[in-house]
Amino acid sequence: LEVNKYYEVIRELGKGTYGKVDLVIHKIRGSKMALKFLKKKSTKLKSFLREYSISLYLSPCPFIINMFGIAFETDEYYVFAQEYAPSGDLFDIIPPQVGLPEPVAKRCVHQVAIALEYLHSKKLVHRDIKPENILIFDKECRKVKLSDFGMTRRAGSPVKRVSGTIPYTAPELCDTSKHDGFCVDYSTDVWAFGVLLFCMLTGNFPWEKAMPSDTFYEEFVRWQKRRTGAVPSQWRRFTDESLRMFRKLLALEQERRCSVKEVFAHLGHRWMLDGTSGNH
Ligand code: ADP
Ligand code: MG
Ligand code: MG
Repeated sequence: LEVNKYYEVIRELGKGTYGKVDLVIHKIRGSKMALKFLKKKSTKLKSFLREYSISLYLSPCPFIINMFGIAFETDEYYVFAQEYAPSGDLFDIIPPQVGLPEPVAKRCVHQVAIALEYLHSKKLVHRDIKPENILIFDKECRKVKLSDFGMTRRAGSPVKRVSGTIPYTAPELCDTSKHDGFCVDYSTDVWAFGVLLFCMLTGNFPWEKAMPSDTFYEEFVRWQKRRTGAVPSQWRRFTDESLRMFRKLLALEQERRCSVKEVFAHLGHRWMLDGTSGNH
């Protein structure tokens, strides 16, 4: 398909080794949309069709990016169209070292949690939860949507222990030396959701990698295991209530991690940062 015949490219929204995402105007309809181009060189037709059909299947959820039923190929790319999120992705609005104002963060995670709950109710696991994959429609996060279903798989399907993005990857996935039958599980998303929440509220990562050898992670593990004693320094700004939630989201054994559903109970509380933190 001759892209320029039907679409006018306005600007690039994202770029990676995979290909690119462009903001375009549909010349006939006059409407804006985002086209995701996946390089044929690095993407199998099967993976493209999987990402496209999963996205389309999940589109009815108001907290998941809406797909238009448009998919085509050019010489170089497989392409599909989705609604355009005018404020880009969440990563770009988290102030480094500071974090988002708590009400904004709370509003945002609430919507992400609904999207995840929907996904999980369809027996799917996203496997790449991170700020870059949460698209925003306004800077106040009044409307946000989960996106990028390239890693999404059915719960229970066998996979290798490598997935997602560091530092959002759960500890059981970090040990790539193990080759036993490992299966896709909801707990992967729950862990990443916990890390995401930490990042949104602090503007920092809790650790580089959930591995022994990362001192911040080691400190967290000691605190998780002991259940008493000093809270690691980068966690001290959180209230007791929110620390209780983080303990469940970031439970070290995946069997003990809570479900996304449990997050909603916590969202009812004033649960995040201490008023003394100076973060709004
Ligand atoms: P990848 O699978 O390579 O991570 P994504 O689908 O996550 O590709 O898109 C890459 C980036 O492009 C996103 O992080 C975001 O910044 C931007 N982007 C993607 N889709 C849209 C969209 N519909 N509206 C606005 N920006 C988008
Ligand atoms: Mg992405
Ligand atoms: Mg992807």
